[in-house]
Amino acid sequence: PVLSYDAYKGLPRRRPVKRPLRLALLTREAGNYSSRRLIEAAQARGHVVEVINTTRCYMKIGGVSPEIHLDGKVLPRFDAVIPRIGASVTGYGMAVLRQFEATGAYCLNSAAAIGASRDKLLAHQLLARANIRMPVTTFANSPKDTKDLIELAGKAPVVVKLLSSTQGKGVILAETRKAAETLVDAFRGLDANFLVQQFVKEAAGSDLRCFVVGNKVVGAIKRTGAEGDFRSNLHQGGTAKSVRTTKEERETAKRAARELGLSVAGVDMLQSAEGPKVLEVNSSPGLEGIEKATGKDLASLIIEHLERQVRPLSRYRDGR
Ligand code: ADP
Repeated sequence: PVLSYDAYKGLPRRRPVKRPLRLALLTREAGNYSSRRLIEAAQARGHVVEVINTTRCYMKIGGVSPEIHLDGKVLPRFDAVIPRIGASVTGYGMAVLRQFEATGAYCLNSAAAIGASRDKLLAHQLLARANIRMPVTTFANSPKDTKDLIELAGKAPVVVKLLSSTQGKGVILAETRKAAETLVDAFRGLDANFLVQQFVKEAAGSDLRCFVVGNKVVGAIKRTGAEGDFRSNLHQGGTAKSVRTTKEERETAKRAARELGLSVAGVDMLQSAEGPKVLEVNSSPGLEGIEKATGKDLASLIIEHLERQVRPLSRYRDGR
């Protein structure tokens, strides 16, 4: 991140812009709940939104000025871009987003921040560096170190996670040392990248998602897994309900988002006996589960945040 969390907290808040903004929503899923809600909220506040299919964009780099093209036409300049880049297109999506950054558009989350949050190892390292609590996590490259890797994670039971996992699909609980070793060997045989993590039993199949916008937690839900599943992902049959958070949970969520440089984030954590432990920071958090459970209009809060960040039209090129 460019600024430390404390430096960020001390920044004066900018007054929101009053003029209609020209916004781009970068997504391949124009029709999904989150996209629809963001478009609705932006239009209700008088802005013009264009939905742009991330992977259909192509770019001209190294010309007089950076250009992004779509369907044979150069795209106009946007005041701001809302990136909703799917995990499967992170690489190209980040390149497209960097190109938008180069045109001077304000990007709700930067390509660098999205990249950091999508790289599980890097994200863990950045959070650990900032002393943000997380389950002890181990990782190795060589198959020789299997036993030690499991020991270091705090002995069985441990959780083994495929690094490419999303929606809880590649997250497995190994109840015994033998099971953990077998699992690690199997993943190695498949050349899959994974990490081994201390199992936080007290979380009891639930996790907490804090939705961060700017420097605020604007909503939180507790997700509980299907009966008998330690994973609380909604995609795995979990349920969500609105919860009150503690100050420590809110501070942890805000710091985690800030450390990765994200201004909008879904911070997932486990409620452990020692306090909140961060599992993951999501840079394109879905709106459906949390808006429905909390009854809050998070889409409008995101658009309002964006209005505060976009600089007013300026006589100076550098936006002063
Ligand atoms: P994904 O990114 O695929 O959703 P997560 O790391 O978020 O994977 O894990 C999915 C779910 O599994 C979490 O929401 C949580 O409920 C559970 N879980 C993950 N790691 C642990 C752990 N170390 N201890 C206890 N439960 C965990």
